[in-house]
Amino acid sequence: MLDYVPSHPLRPVGLFRRVAPFALPGALGVGLCLFDVGHWRRPGCMAAAGALFAALVVAGIAVPWLRLPRWLAILPVLAFAGVVTLLGLGLDAPPPGLGPLMMLPALWLAVHGSRRELVLCFGLIVLSVVVRSLGLTDVALLRYNALVLMVLPVMLFTLQAIVHRARHLAWQLRATAATDVLTGIANRRAWDQRLPGDLARARREQRPVCVAILDLDHFKRLNDTRGHAAGDELLRSAARCWSGLLRAGDLIARYGGEEFAVLLPSCAMPDGVIVIDRLRAATPAGQTCSAGIACWDGEESGEQLMARADAALYRAKAAGRDRCAVCPTAAEMVGGACPGVVCDPTAVGV
Ligand code: GH3
Ligand code: MG
Ligand code: MG
Repeated sequence: MLDYVPSHPLRPVGLFRRVAPFALPGALGVGLCLFDVGHWRRPGCMAAAGALFAALVVAGIAVPWLRLPRWLAILPVLAFAGVVTLLGLGLDAPPPGLGPLMMLPALWLAVHGSRRELVLCFGLIVLSVVVRSLGLTDVALLRYNALVLMVLPVMLFTLQAIVHRARHLAWQLRATAATDVLTGIANRRAWDQRLPGDLARARREQRPVCVAILDLDHFKRLNDTRGHAAGDELLRSAARCWSGLLRAGDLIARYGGEEFAVLLPSCAMPDGVIVIDRLRAATPAGQTCSAGIACWDGEESGEQLMARADAALYRAKAAGRDRCAVCPTAAEMVGGACPGVVCDPTAVGV
């Protein structure tokens, strides 16, 4: 099974829901400090904080973060930490709200960032607190800062561990639900989820799609003569061997007991037959298999397409097994684009 890879924190899907709980209190907190003009000690720092915050908002909206290297996504977070540090230096007495404000970028990274990013951000917080504590004589405030620095990492790293564990489990659950337990390839559920999306894309991009159902011949006989374990091993090795022969965008799924479904995006006839014949020829242990192939007609549903492939498979079996049969679309019937045994599309009600 593949390793869990955390997704990009600034990916567009659900971005507002992820950013808003941090951005709103962040903007309000910065606004409260900036408009408290009566307590400005260093106007230069306050102006720099305002300018950096404005640049941060513009960059957050305008920069195409997804197209940049992932590590750059930490820049807005670090910039916000810089804004809070400047506010701390610019105000004559650090207001009580500034400490929690500093925690916002760290909390964001605990939930959405990597461990390394969180360590970097926490280092910045330490630096910021130390810089703001220099010259302080108020012992209570110094003790408060020290306590924050002691408790904060426990909170942040515990939170990050919980979030990562939960995401990892959710990812594992999704992967398990889509994988066939015997062969390790996609299962029927994954196939049913993927096919409609691929047909919709093919419609948008005006591309062909072929599907095929491969069925091992006389598999029951093999089970009966050599045992169920040998049957299982053949299913596993056939899945492994066929998967290795397909392109990256293709899909092979265990469709039923000894039936496998193959999805060939951007593939038309007669190429579909060539690909499936290559798979059949590579079937391990001298086993033969039959296949039914159908090329999408541009309109039909996934179920109708699979029904045509199934009808073609039935024809291949009836014609003596160890062969491909094609259920052509009406256009292919006229153009004669389908080699091999041909089945009549009207026989499956299409
Ligand atoms: P045909 O050439 O017509 O396809 O004949 P067949 O024997 O392959 O097909 P049939 O449908 O008669 O039998 C399919 C067999 O596949 C029966 C079932 O026991 C076996 N089978 C289904 N799932 C598994 C499995 O996970 N492991 C094993 N070993 N056998 C399985
Ligand atoms: Mg079968
Ligand atoms: Mg069979």
